[in-house]
Amino acid sequence: METTQPTTAFLPSALGLTLDDWVRWAEANGQPKFRARQIVEWLYQKRVTSFDDMTNLSRDLRDRLKRQFVPGLLPVVRAAGSNDTTRKFLFRLDDGRLIETVRIPANANFDGDRSGRITLCVSSQVGCAYACKFCASGLAGFTRNLEVGEIVGQVMSVEHETGESIRNIVFMGMGEPLANLTRLTKALEILNSDWGMNIGARHMTVSTSGLAPQIEKLAAIPRQIRLAISLHGATDKVRDQIMPVNKKYPIDRLFEALDTWGRHKKQMITFEYILIEGVNDSLEDAAELALRAKKLHAKVNLIPYNTVEGLQWKRPEKDQQEAFLAILSNANITATLRREKGHDIDAACGQLRLQEETAEGIIEKAV
Ligand code: SAH
Repeated sequence: METTQPTTAFLPSALGLTLDDWVRWAEANGQPKFRARQIVEWLYQKRVTSFDDMTNLSRDLRDRLKRQFVPGLLPVVRAAGSNDTTRKFLFRLDDGRLIETVRIPANANFDGDRSGRITLCVSSQVGCAYACKFCASGLAGFTRNLEVGEIVGQVMSVEHETGESIRNIVFMGMGEPLANLTRLTKALEILNSDWGMNIGARHMTVSTSGLAPQIEKLAAIPRQIRLAISLHGATDKVRDQIMPVNKKYPIDRLFEALDTWGRHKKQMITFEYILIEGVNDSLEDAAELALRAKKLHAKVNLIPYNTVEGLQWKRPEKDQQEAFLAILSNANITATLRREKGHDIDAACGQLRLQEETAEGIIEKAV
């Protein structure tokens, strides 16, 4: 029997427009400019979830909004964990794809920070094309970029679900944020602007596996956001083994881009460095890393490898982790050894996998 699929054109999310976009939209719809301010106020300050609640707009204007946009909160398919612990939200997108966003409480956040803050780890793509050999996200490949509204929507939706205000964001969820640079930049504007989510630029960290030209482009935007590099090896020899992106942008090219970054931004760069037994955890590796970090005045986050089902990598013994850290500390590098959180619910770094919803429930996408 033939079934005809209803053609549902997906409406864009209202959370994907900047104030300038709304001004243009108002003008195109024969409205005065100040309507743009009213709309963003309803969305980000008053937090209405329906266009009907935008009561200072005419009925006609509300209808236009309804015909052209969806309000943009993402439906939660599953929320694992508790408010005191790392908590993972699985959201459904309009096309049925699933993405994850991880809420990390202060005592567990990525810097070992104890300030009482919450950090949200946001996804930038469905899947990932970069295929780092140790990471679960790359296992099933790349599906698509997230839209601006889907990036902002993760933050809005977690605030909506928890009643909390998110003040810190790391782009360390699924995907390579710099491979979705145009949308990322727009999302950063919405998240950072006072008319939008008003999250301080210094409280937003973009993490990349090392896309040198895109780092240079992001350096040029006038926001003091932070940069984290998933380095994991201080030499081409090590990086070539575990990160295919290094073939395209070898370490020297990457560091050229980081120099450019340093000329534009005031904050220290962070190197993320997973400790993988027998791959990058020798004391010589530590010495190479110390040299690289010193030159750039970067700080280092050491992350004992989180096991990924189906992959053979292991974390080194505690003693080896400490010895590695000691070399950095003795070289006067600001370095931390990350305390592991969220491992039990597969929400730790590198454990976010592509998932699909089927009639049987949620399944991990076959590799
Ligand atoms: N693609 C970007 C954003 C993802 S961040 C980037 O690579 O930076 C996710 C972080 O988790 C990266 O630093 C990544 O290298 C790290 N990671 C991946 N697999 C991991 C694992 N199994 N254990 C610990 N960290 C891991």
